[in-house]
Amino acid sequence: MKITIIGAGPGGYEAAIMAAKLGAEVTVVEKNKVGGTCLNVGCIPTKALLASADILTTSLEAEKFGVFNEHTSADLKQINERKDKLVSGLVKGIEFLFESNGVNLVRGTGHLINPKTVSVELSDGGLETLVSDKILLATGSVPICPELFHYDGVRVITSTEALALNKPPKSMIVVGGGVIGCELGQFFSRMGTQITLVEMAPQLLPFEDDDVAKQLLRQFKREKIKVMTGSSISDVSVTDSGVEVTLENGKSIATEMMLLAIGRSSYASGLNLEKLGIKVDTKGQLVVDDHLETSVPGIYAVGDLINTPYLAHVASKEGIIAAENMLGHNKSGAHKAIPRCVYTDPQVAAVGLTEKEAEQKGIIYKTGSFDFRSLGKAQIIGKIQGQVKIIVNQEDIIIGASIIGPEATDLLAELTMAVHLGLTAEALGDVIHPHPTLSEAIMEALHDVHEKSINKAPLRF
Ligand code: FAD
Repeated sequence: MKITIIGAGPGGYEAAIMAAKLGAEVTVVEKNKVGGTCLNVGCIPTKALLASADILTTSLEAEKFGVFNEHTSADLKQINERKDKLVSGLVKGIEFLFESNGVNLVRGTGHLINPKTVSVELSDGGLETLVSDKILLATGSVPICPELFHYDGVRVITSTEALALNKPPKSMIVVGGGVIGCELGQFFSRMGTQITLVEMAPQLLPFEDDDVAKQLLRQFKREKIKVMTGSSISDVSVTDSGVEVTLENGKSIATEMMLLAIGRSSYASGLNLEKLGIKVDTKGQLVVDDHLETSVPGIYAVGDLINTPYLAHVASKEGIIAAENMLGHNKSGAHKAIPRCVYTDPQVAAVGLTEKEAEQKGIIYKTGSFDFRSLGKAQIIGKIQGQVKIIVNQEDIIIGASIIGPEATDLLAELTMAVHLGLTAEALGDVIHPHPTLSEAIMEALHDVHEKSINKAPLRF
């Protein structure tokens, strides 16, 4: 079986390796670096920057732990050098995995010619034609930049340019209080930039739990990040010295730079979708069935290109399932329990339904919660902000969970498993959690669903 994959982001590269492991002859076409958005301008570089910001914050607070460090400062250029080195090491890692699994990498831009043929404009000139039995499209997404904002990559930037700034701007307006806006807004604030964050919805992280959003807002205010929720921008002008923004309420803001973080749209440029009759939805996202096959038999699609959450772990899971299906398996269910993570400080992580969503669906639910401040481990590491909240249905099955607090993104794995497997709060709460660890907050929140949390402070005492 011959398979051609266009795009080597997490969707494409994991599909390639899985298909090769299952015995296919695989060629991947990639016009930039392998690893895609996630590795080069997304998940990995942002988290590398945030890791430096964490070290800075910890170092500035070291005295609280009896540790003295007189000369703490940050240099964005050196932070970026570390990040770039880390990224290029991981890029090489994927190239090595391709080589060792016998995956053929063709560097260039792929275009669909028919359901069996891809033509490649090679990066170093010339054309190559690839004929295969099945094709996987994994070309990802690009930032949304409406004309109103006059994106120029200098004064008005996206996350891609933000990741390459070697000097923090004096001031920056961040448009969008979703994941990318919150993560990069807090990062630049910690680098010394005066941040004004404008979000159209009434809360930060509009799709997350209200309590979580409120706690994050409190932290941002503590850090002097100016947050304007329920605000939209009606006009933008770019000058030599910066950006001037007028809000719909008439107020204006002038800053040195503007970061656009209002979402991403799927990227299918040059794929000839229309010519081949591949169906797309109103947002230009490819329509696929449960097996991740498009409307044209033999052509599959995964990741940010299709109508599923734009997340690297979703793309990877879809890539693996698509590879299996291209090789004759009958897999579905890529989207049973999707973890959602925000790497701010404190971190935010959630899976399944929020309370608001449970209400909208008319589900009769109960919650259990536990604050980190009541936990020994949180006190030990000096990170007492935040809580775990668990939502169960009438059968006690865990249908959602939200965490805001230390290591929330790692802690979420246990609750993702619970939602995926349909575990009850009682069953998961019966599991012994090691002491002293942050995971005990999950155990206490599970016990709290049945009002049996030993360590939860009563409301009145
Ligand atoms: P991509 O990673 O976008 O890869 C697509 C690849 O296809 C690219 O390499 C592109 O060059 C290539 N390509 C496109 N067209 C062609 C063509 N015609 N021919 C050849 N090659 C082509 N997700 C998380 O889960 N966790 C995070 O912490 C996280 N943080 C993020 C932070 C930022 C700043 C951003 C922007 C995104 C973040 N994401 C995160 C989202 C994540 O990066 C994407 O969901 C993921 O990369 C999508 O994978 P993909 O394989 O679908 O596409």
